[in-house]
Amino acid sequence: MGEIISPRGWIAMMIVVITAGIVGWLGAALDAAALTLVGGAAAVLATTAGREPRAEPAPLPPSTPPPAPLDLVLDALNEPVLILNGARVAIANRAARGLLGTHVLGEDARIAIRHPAAAALLAGSGEADPVALGGLGAPDQRWEMRVAPIGDGRRLVHLADRSGSHAAERMRVDFVANASHELRTPLASILGYVETLADEAGEDPALRARFLKIVFDEARRMERLVDDLMSLSRIEAEKFRAPAESVDLAALIDRTREELADAHDGRGHDIILEHETTSVPMLGDATQLSQLLHNLVGNAMKYGRPGTPIRVSLTREGDTLRLVVADQGDGIAPEHLPRLTERFYRVDPGRSRSIGGTGLGLAIVKHIVERHRGRLDIASRPGEGTRVTVTLRAPGATFGLIPAATAASPLADVIKQ
Ligand code: ADP
Repeated sequence: MGEIISPRGWIAMMIVVITAGIVGWLGAALDAAALTLVGGAAAVLATTAGREPRAEPAPLPPSTPPPAPLDLVLDALNEPVLILNGARVAIANRAARGLLGTHVLGEDARIAIRHPAAAALLAGSGEADPVALGGLGAPDQRWEMRVAPIGDGRRLVHLADRSGSHAAERMRVDFVANASHELRTPLASILGYVETLADEAGEDPALRARFLKIVFDEARRMERLVDDLMSLSRIEAEKFRAPAESVDLAALIDRTREELADAHDGRGHDIILEHETTSVPMLGDATQLSQLLHNLVGNAMKYGRPGTPIRVSLTREGDTLRLVVADQGDGIAPEHLPRLTERFYRVDPGRSRSIGGTGLGLAIVKHIVERHRGRLDIASRPGEGTRVTVTLRAPGATFGLIPAATAASPLADVIKQ
């Protein structure tokens, strides 16, 4: 009852009882007094019963936190955001303060951002197309700046980091330019010799034979280049499809030695195989792994000193297979090591071209290793030689980070590619 009748109801009820008592005391009929009592009680009940207690502001359910202040929300974004009041910076989130400096608060936005393209966009007051800003922060960073009015003369400025897509686009443009140049050079040579053969040199058998050999060599160079370009795009196209063939890596190494026996001035005789067992099965792509072996062993044959051994070893350590190809060549200076797997990067372009290199061998190796979720490390020391380590997963290995190759050789500078 206490829950049904409010405190005001109790007071009203007491007034009704007292009124009924007075009616009875004044000598009115008992019926009239009783009627007054029952009617009054019913009226009190009717006005209070069923009525909700007076609405207090409902507390929020525990799962709904109170709204966070705007600057905390903006600080949680990892891209720079400014709120301008007129021309001045009213709020700069953490990322904006990191990029532009803490002093920007209260500054004119055109001074805070200090970029001609930004100044032009900020000078307007309405919505405009976003602009690209280069060189803000680090020299190779690229931003896309958007400005949107948010009412009361305020505007929101958002800087989106486009450095990744910009770098990818630049790489693509460079790659097309490099590939065209690499193809154009032998093509120009072929056209020149064919023209000369068609003129006077075609009459002289010795000269004709010499020029035809050059044409043939240059055509082969183009063929190697086109083959490597096609391999690269095939491997890239398959990069997200894990290879699932059962491959015996030890048998592949044996076959590679046989196939390279007569290549590179007969250096095949210097290849020394050091397998731990005769059969090392794994899940892989046999064609790509064979290409990886040809490229690595081929490089060791090309760049190793004539007559020195080329050691190819394959070991299994727990969950990992480790393939090492080591030569005793002139080695590679440390500043070149991080760039060796870039397309067309050569330490000595003249030497690479003269021995038939395309400049794509290690880029292909890197992509094959990535597709096999493996790891590629190159260690080299000028005058001593180069050791390339490929670490792959053995069958049944759980997915995880492959440990770095141990630098248990005199070639201490191991560079992960
Ligand atoms: P290339 O077709 O020129 O050999 P790669 O991509 O295979 O291209 O190698 C890139 C460059 O790395 C080579 O031009 C060469 O300068 C250097 N390089 C690769 N392997 C070795 C090695 N075993 N010893 C010395 N230098 C090497």
